[in-house]
Amino acid sequence: MRLSRYFLPVLKETPAEARVASHRLMLRAGMIKQQAAGIYSWLPLGFRVLRRIEQIVCEEQIRAGHIPMLMPTIQSADLWRESDRYDAYGPEMLRIQDRHDRELLFGPTNEEMITDIFRTHVTSYKNLPLTLFHIQWKFRDEIRPRFGVMRGREFFMKDGYSFDLTRKDAMHAYNRHLVSYLQTYERLGLQAIPMRAESGPIGGEDTHEFLVLADTGESIVYYDSAVTDIRLDQRLIDYDDVAQCQKIAQDFTAVYARTEETHDEEKYAQVPKDRQRCARGIEVGQIFYFGTKYSKPMGALVQTADGEMVPVHMGSHGIGVSRLVGAIIEASHDEKGIIWPEEVTPFHCGIINVKQGDVETDRLCDQLHEGINRLGLEALYDDREERAGAKFATADIIGLPWRVTVGPRGAKSGLVELESRRTGERQELLAEAVAPRIAQIYGVEQLSVVDNV
Ligand code: ATP
Ligand code: MG
Repeated sequence: MRLSRYFLPVLKETPAEARVASHRLMLRAGMIKQQAAGIYSWLPLGFRVLRRIEQIVCEEQIRAGHIPMLMPTIQSADLWRESDRYDAYGPEMLRIQDRHDRELLFGPTNEEMITDIFRTHVTSYKNLPLTLFHIQWKFRDEIRPRFGVMRGREFFMKDGYSFDLTRKDAMHAYNRHLVSYLQTYERLGLQAIPMRAESGPIGGEDTHEFLVLADTGESIVYYDSAVTDIRLDQRLIDYDDVAQCQKIAQDFTAVYARTEETHDEEKYAQVPKDRQRCARGIEVGQIFYFGTKYSKPMGALVQTADGEMVPVHMGSHGIGVSRLVGAIIEASHDEKGIIWPEEVTPFHCGIINVKQGDVETDRLCDQLHEGINRLGLEALYDDREERAGAKFATADIIGLPWRVTVGPRGAKSGLVELESRRTGERQELLAEAVAPRIAQIYGVEQLSVVDNV
């Protein structure tokens, strides 16, 4: 992509309203534009990152055996009256009236709707277990939207709903989600710690929140530092293996880690003093088991092998996809700008032409750009008529993990410079070695394209 033809409205000034780094940097890097309190447009660069995170979240859910679908953003109030949540949800729910004076709402979550779908189509234990999920915009009329996309009113969420015959089966769904979430955050280059939490208006018995530790986080958490040393076993996870999922979930949840709301001083006191930690965190996901809370009042029954009709056991499981964009930046930036983890970067690398208009330099940049594209990778080529300094500053703010700098001196002998945004390490190499090197970094199979034949 040529920057001269792209839409990247980078801001020179630091916007006054942004108090945390991720909000500031997302505005400065031209990723988002606020349209109303807590409501944002996702400009092209931000949209790319959002889509990459969505893709990873989706892939990991499918890997765990969960089935994607899509429910609407607008729901009928009547459905929410069945579960008694229409009034209970309070002022956070955006209520809407259509031209026929029918009561609608912009969905803050989808338990009622999925329970309605289930009761319409599933009647037998033979169709269980079942987990359906979607990734869709939600609206919650937050009293204090802030920190950019981290606490928006409109936000993008993956919400999945599990259906099982028994509590025991439902606990497998719970553990399976816990493991798949850990796997998801790891792929996103984040460490998120599962912590015992309180259920809130969704209601439930068992629930864990996933927190990314960050000074700017809104949650206060207490944990045993040993929990940050546990690693997901890199062996292939078999999501149908009940014992394996349970074992992994237990490894993580047996260590003391709780949000402020469920913090227990007595239990915390048993953690060795030098491992006790109180910190701030960003909630990037939550899993709930809530049994028959919705299936009973809404009549979502299934027939057991004995012919009895019983309410199905449910859980709901959410990942804050749009909040993750902010959380990743909070975890990965420096004073100059964003540092994208390779897994979610909007472009694989940047190309900087330090002397636009110099024939040799332009030609080498074009070649590099094409060579990278040909490998199925994407480069953002800064071909603007700008000073080199301005190009470097833009590159620092938008934070692509790899930068190729091409100048007239090196161009004479076909040499360019490859620099890591994270470490600042630089390496001089021949232009034709760049595309294969980038492909190797990203683990992309090289196509055996024979050039100039
Ligand atoms: P919070 O306590 O932060 O208000 P919640 O517990 O009410 O969140 P859930 O119902 O658990 O939220 O939603 C699942 C996930 O959606 C959360 O873990 C979070 O990552 C994300 N999320 C919730 N509210 C918002 C919001 N206002 N803006 C952006 N993401 C959000
Ligand atoms: Mg939550």
